[in-house]
Amino acid sequence: MSRATVCLTVDFDGVSSWIHSFDEGDSPTNLSRGLFGVDVGAPRLLDLFDEHGVTTTWFVPGHTAESFPEAVESVWAAGHDIQHHGWSHTRPGTYPDAASERADIRRGIEAIEALTGRRPTGYRSPSWDFSEHTLSLLQELGFEWDSSQMGREFRPYRLREGWKASPDAPFERGEETALVEIPVSWQRDDFPAFAFDRRRGFADERAVFDMWLAQFEWMYRNVDGGVYVLTVHPQIMGYSHRLERLESLIETVAEYPDTEFVTLDSVSDRF
Ligand SMILES: [Zn+2]
Repeated sequence: MSRATVCLTVDFDGVSSWIHSFDEGDSPTNLSRGLFGVDVGAPRLLDLFDEHGVTTTWFVPGHTAESFPEAVESVWAAGHDIQHHGWSHTRPGTYPDAASERADIRRGIEAIEALTGRRPTGYRSPSWDFSEHTLSLLQELGFEWDSSQMGREFRPYRLREGWKASPDAPFERGEETALVEIPVSWQRDDFPAFAFDRRRGFADERAVFDMWLAQFEWMYRNVDGGVYVLTVHPQIMGYSHRLERLESLIETVAEYPDTEFVTLDSVSDRF
């Protein structure tokens, strides 16, 4: 096992997040931001990863796969992993019932199977949250791992079912399932920092990249075998100057001895 494992993950929302996840998101200008990610950001990221020999994990909504098949095929052809991110990018907690959530997850599985010829093993929920049904649906549909929750920082762990969060009783943690969680953090996601939507964005870019490096360095010193997950979006990270900062981050991290860049699927396999 390496001293440090780095997983670069790309949430390839295309236009699906604008249609399904944001109020008034499906305006022409917002949709064009998604199209920038498809037409410009994704190819730039693929070039960057190729130059540095880095294998990454792309979470692709079925909507993106079916709307922009050539763009998604380029990701697969370049040797990156493609995993599940919903069909429609609907926040799981907003489905009216388990049946409609199940139907969307199934449709997303079919879209990825059609493109890659194999069933996805991992799930990342749209907007990084679960409904009360999501965990049991993932088990029912044969997923092995998830990457949407935040119960650890640099260690995979097992998700629990049957927990109880009552307002008038102590919290009950429930029982471990077989589903492996490879945790994310809003602190290692480009969207909250940089995606201006009239409420957020415009973080100090240098400070954000410095923070990402500092988090890696802390993990390297303190967590033997730690797993560092960074999430980027082609429509956010695909901008000129940010690509250079990302490249510099990759180069700096790669210089640390015994550090490797791998997919989340292989992290789950080892766990
Ligand atoms: Zn997303």
